[in-house]
Order: sequence, then structure tokens, then C-alpha cells
Amino acid sequence: MSTSSLPLANRSALVTGANRGIGRAIAKLLAEQGARVAVHFGSDQEAAENVLAELAGQGHTILQADLEDANEAAALPHRAAEKLGRLDILVNNAGIYETHGIDTLGPAEWQKSWDRTIAINLTAPSLIIHAALEHLEHSGGGHIVNITSRGAYRGEPDAPAYGVAKAGLNSLTQSLANKLAPKRIHLVGVAPGWVLTDMTESFLEGPEGEGIRQQSPLNRTATADEIAQVVLLAVCGRADALTGGIIDVNCASYFR
Ligand code: NAD
Repeated sequence: MSTSSLPLANRSALVTGANRGIGRAIAKLLAEQGARVAVHFGSDQEAAENVLAELAGQGHTILQADLEDANEAAALPHRAAEKLGRLDILVNNAGIYETHGIDTLGPAEWQKSWDRTIAINLTAPSLIIHAALEHLEHSGGGHIVNITSRGAYRGEPDAPAYGVAKAGLNSLTQSLANKLAPKRIHLVGVAPGWVLTDMTESFLEGPEGEGIRQQSPLNRTATADEIAQVVLLAVCGRADALTGGIIDVNCASYFR
């Protein structure tokens, strides 16, 4: 197939947290489908360079930014658009999962963890979308996917700020899908259950792993590649009626 007939030919994408895990799988699939990709990373430049080298096609780039820093988050889409020449697709994937037990932490540590999680998992995506808007409008419309979580619905007893941030991200997705539809900007939330990545390795490969897999009648967790396929569906332009939707990808482990 010639590259110009690929579904994402001539489109440019920013994927946050793309140096590993789910973000890496998304960056690889979008590039394979013809997009030029900005691989954002927070730390570990070597991993980002390795992902860059794995991407099919030409014109990709890597961009470092600490998303806990509001200024760095807000600058990221402008830097991506400058490097790629345009911006059509944004995937807010970067996130942290930090346990912060309400019964174990003192108030200062509780607040620190709360602030960090909200800053990276919720405020940063909102700032990135805000800054991306002018570039998506310039492209005549675009697609935004926010990677949320089953935890938004099921609760996160040991990481409540994570659940709150992801629930907020779902709500942000829905609010802006409605607001930005007239500009032909489509927003979808993708809410995975457990996925084996660096973030979850210690749980899934430890003594709790078997119990976690048994939460699903498939007796397994999702793969990062499966999450990427769902993101592709949301950004390809062939299913824009999805806008405002939150797609569960949890192997039937939880229904809402
Ligand atoms: P991961 O830890 O492998 O990757 C997270 C990415 O976010 C990394 O690239 C990391 O560099 C980046 N990041 C974290 N803090 C950052 C910061 N301050 N500045 C810049 N970048 C930062 O995790 P993953 O499993 O690939 O998760 C990706 C997304 O999927 C996250 O939003 C996560 O909450 C969500 N999710 C994951 C699972 C799972 O089971 N793995 C389940 C539900 C949702």
C-alpha cells in the first residue's frame, strides 16, 4: 500500500508519555497508519529515542516536558505543531499511579500526592487541550483521545486522587466534545482496566497477579496494543459519532 493511502496520511499527532507502555504502542500504531508523531517523554530520553527509531515512516520527533509543570504542559502542543508543521491528533496518555493511603499518610504527604496526581493526570491534559486548540482549528478540525481508567468508575481505595483525576478527565472529555463539536474537534475517552506495562508490572507479576487476571472472565489483562487499536478507531475519522464517548477496554472485568 502506498503511504498516501494510509488512514492517517498527512496527519500529525502528539502522544504524551510515549516513551514506554501504552503511549509507545499508540505512537507506533499511529505512525504505522501514516501519521507523523511527536513522541513526548518526561524522563528517559534514551527510551524516547528508541521509540522514535521504531516508528514507521518519516518526519517524527521527540519532545521532553515535565507535565507536573503547568508552563511546560501548556507549551507542549505549540512545540509539537512547530516540529511537525501541523497538529491533527492529540493523545493525552501520560499519567502516574501513586498509592496514598488515607489511613497511612500525614496531611502534608497526603496533599503532596494529591496535588501531583491531579497536576499530571488532570490539569496537564486540560492545559494541553487548551493550547492544542488553535492548531487543531488551523487544521480544520481534529481528534483528541484522553486515556482515563476503569478506576474512574470502580474507585481507587489506595489511590483516590488517581480515581478522581480519571473521573475528571472523563467529564472533561464529555464537556469539550459538546463544546468543540461545531469546530469539528472530536473527543473520546478510552478507559482501560488492567494493562501490563511498567506502571503495573509490580502488581501483575507479583503475588496479586493471578487474582487481578481472574477479575476478567477472559482470565487476562488487556495489552497495550489493544488499547492502541481503540485509540486508532477514535482518531481515524471513520467513526466520529463516537465523540463524547468513554470506551471501556477492561476484558469484561467491570460494568458500569
Ligand atoms: P507507564 O508508567 O508505563 O507510562 C506513563 C507515561 O507517562 C510515561 O511515559 C511517563 O514518562 C509519563 N509521565 C508520567 N509522569 C510524567 C510527568 N510528570 N511528565 C511527563 N510525563 C510523565 O504507564 P502506562 O501503563 O503506559 O499508562 C499510560 C496511561 O494509561 C496512564 O494515563 C494510565 O493512567 C493509563 N492507564 C493504565 C492502566 C494500566 O493498567 N497500565 C490502566 C488504566 C489506565
